[in-house]
Amino acid sequence: MGWTDGFGLINSGIDTGKALVASIKKLTGAVDQEMRNDLNLKIGDLIDTMQRMRDEFALLRDRFADLERENAQLREFEIDRENYVLEAIGPHSTAYVRKTAGASNEAHPHLCAHCFDRKEKSILQFEKHDARTDVLKCHACGSTVHISADRGPSVLSAPGRPRAIW
Ligand SMILES: [Zn+2]
Repeated sequence: MGWTDGFGLINSGIDTGKALVASIKKLTGAVDQEMRNDLNLKIGDLIDTMQRMRDEFALLRDRFADLERENAQLREFEIDRENYVLEAIGPHSTAYVRKTAGASNEAHPHLCAHCFDRKEKSILQFEKHDARTDVLKCHACGSTVHISADRGPSVLSAPGRPRAIW
């Protein structure tokens, strides 16, 4: 049963209840007043219940739509994470980087490993220069990592490796 069907069912229930109340009001003689009042009350309760059901149903439907959206985002992440690899970027520091380098003028950001493992892509941003490293900070979780930076001949230990520009 689809969401629309469900709504239709509840709404037609409410309409039926309202129609019943209207016909009871038209009844004369055959049904005594006390019985009519009692029926009116019961049907009124029924309509209230169905209206509450409709509201709760709407909440459920919205929540379901949210979940579907979140699920789609997670699936997308799972597919895309194949393109990333965890790399040692500096002393005791790791970050996720894209496996295949695209065009040379394309930015190749380092992604926070902590956030990445929680299925969130957060680009590490330059925070400050340190003695032999640059400090990168994740603005999502606040963690920092060190990335080896070339500062003169003493730290040129990895020739051929392009220097990061951030
Ligand atoms: Zn982070």
